[in-house]
Amino acid sequence: CGIIAINGRQNVAPLLLDALRRLEYRGYDSAGVATLTAQGIARRRAEGKLNNLASLLEREPINGTVGIGHTRWATHGRPTTHNAHPHANGRVAVVHNGIIENFQALRRELEGRGHAFETDTDTEVVVHLVADELDRHADAGDAVSAALTRLEGAFALAILIAGEDGRIFGARRGSPLAVGYGEGEMYLASDAVALSALTEHVCHLEEGDWVELTRTGATVRDETGAVVDRPVTRTALSG
Ligand code: GLU
Repeated sequence: CGIIAINGRQNVAPLLLDALRRLEYRGYDSAGVATLTAQGIARRRAEGKLNNLASLLEREPINGTVGIGHTRWATHGRPTTHNAHPHANGRVAVVHNGIIENFQALRRELEGRGHAFETDTDTEVVVHLVADELDRHADAGDAVSAALTRLEGAFALAILIAGEDGRIFGARRGSPLAVGYGEGEMYLASDAVALSALTEHVCHLEEGDWVELTRTGATVRDETGAVVDRPVTRTALSG
């Protein structure tokens, strides 16, 4: 339902939470955040209101300057903490809006190759698909690109990969995703409203685009893999 990603310079969990609050008006049943830390992917998820996630993060904080967050509106799998995003397997963490239509076939294929699934969601196939492609590609961007070609349906995604600190991947197909440009920080959001406290410089990805964010910029590619320029506009949302 709501996606935020921050490739930042400071402890990012409080910023993710704040951005998720700006997406609350869309409705959701659970929420979560994940960051890259020196120990790998750290993750906190909670059923119900964002206040539940906020108090969990107070009791059990996570650090890291690169992170993703999500408010979920369940389509596949009950609205529990267990099924809340981000989904992760220790190597890859994913937040997702929309539906992966061919998740059952992909899940069977990936389970056949030894991937152990933990949830009832369609989203979790993306985690294992990217992890599977990481075994076949030297560069994480190539692995993400290969994984995206296997997915059917309407979705927006933000993806973290352990060991790839300073990089966040995003994709847009049938579900909106915007890139935000900060000062030495970069953002992704499903709705520019989520970025209103962070930046007013926003670029809306087009259908089929995928993007790699570093701390200082974004490389957008279209469905054919060609690097494309998407206009950066100023929103009137900041304040
Ligand atoms: N289909 C995914 C799920 O049920 C994502 C739902 C959403 O857009 O929040 O977990």
